Amino acid sequence: MATAEVYPASEPERWTYLDRVRTRAGPFTNPDAFDGTVVAEAVENMKILVIGAGGLGCELLKNLALSGFKNIHVIDMDTIDISNLNRQFLFRQADVGKSKAEVAAKFVEQRVKGVKITAHNCKIQEKDEDFYMQFQIVVCGLDSIEARRWINATLVNMVDEDVEDSYKPLIDGGTEGFKGQARVIFPTVTSCIECQLDMHAPRAAVPLCTLASIPRQPEHCIEWAHVIAWDREKPFPELDKDDPEHITWLYQKALLRAHEFKIPGVTYALTQGVVKNIIPAIAATNSVIAAACCNEAFKIATNCAPSLGYPDANYMMYSGNDNIYTYTFRHEKKDDCPVCGNLARELVVDPAWTLRELVDSFAVRPEAQLKKPSIRAESKTLYMQSPKSLEEKTRPNLDKTLIELGLANDEEIGVTDPAFATVSFKFKLKFQKSE
Ligand SMILES: [Zn+2]
Repeated sequence: MATAEVYPASEPERWTYLDRVRTRAGPFTNPDAFDGTVVAEAVENMKILVIGAGGLGCELLKNLALSGFKNIHVIDMDTIDISNLNRQFLFRQADVGKSKAEVAAKFVEQRVKGVKITAHNCKIQEKDEDFYMQFQIVVCGLDSIEARRWINATLVNMVDEDVEDSYKPLIDGGTEGFKGQARVIFPTVTSCIECQLDMHAPRAAVPLCTLASIPRQPEHCIEWAHVIAWDREKPFPELDKDDPEHITWLYQKALLRAHEFKIPGVTYALTQGVVKNIIPAIAATNSVIAAACCNEAFKIATNCAPSLGYPDANYMMYSGNDNIYTYTFRHEKKDDCPVCGNLARELVVDPAWTLRELVDSFAVRPEAQLKKPSIRAESKTLYMQSPKSLEEKTRPNLDKTLIELGLANDEEIGVTDPAFATVSFKFKLKFQKSE
């Protein structure tokens, strides 16, 4: 048997089929203005940013390079772990411990001649607006909602109505097990990630009393070890979820508790999963979603077909949980979106709540999901997480009720969170006695 050729015999041959799309006018191109050679060149010169070089990122980089994008940047702060190798196919065992962005960039550059991939081994928050301004399209393959919200707020903020170049289409892919989604956001024009936040409700939290008194599932025992036993015994100064010694401690605590309540199923892997909130990753789902995202980037770059977001549907969901199902719909832009809208969002609260209850509620409200909120009312500061002096000064307010603090029905409050420094969330209080 002849050895299979990995590379195409010649470069032009590799692009034959792609060029049939890039260089010919299609039903959606403007026949008067269309010039095929210009379109191909435009894609090659376009600067595209891929955020994340993990499961989706590997697929995205490979697909974009094979779709004719030649100037790609990739940003990821992670290093390669041995558990990544089953699906993050640009990495080999010898790469364990190295930067994902750098290894992925080098691998694709070697396989696809003429493509330049610039790697950034850092957090997206370390880059400023000037950095993001240089790109024409941003594609996200992230597993964190917080990072998505950050880049979304940044791109929406960057829009300057008078500067066409300041509109950066954001293509976002996400997967969870057999489920996934692909969406396109035209900042300030179509519904943004913050408008769609309630599509990603936080996982239902287990009430503390269940953990403390009557655990029923192995996860309850692990959460008990994580939330209660750890705090009580403080075996190490601070919990490091990546430290096997710390996970082992939690695992053994959870196991003892599970024995006590005769609950089977506590394992080391489950402990790690619960504590780190690990979502199972399936290579094929990543590949379906990344392919959809790459096609949207290609369509936006070439105009060969309408992309998601034009004119209507902007959100494609895919589910392989029960057979195969996909559905594409229009998610509406919200006037009270804290990022792209300008109205305050209504917030139903009980006036008898303490400020602490209000502060805590922001973490679990699907439309807010703020872990460290600082709160201001129209005329005064109610609670500030930092700096320390202000935190101490405002801390006594936490035990006062909303009424005692002088808040009124329909009053507007401003909420900020260090995770989204540029955004001020505006809420309008709606008093309602809870039953
Ligand atoms: Zn929005």
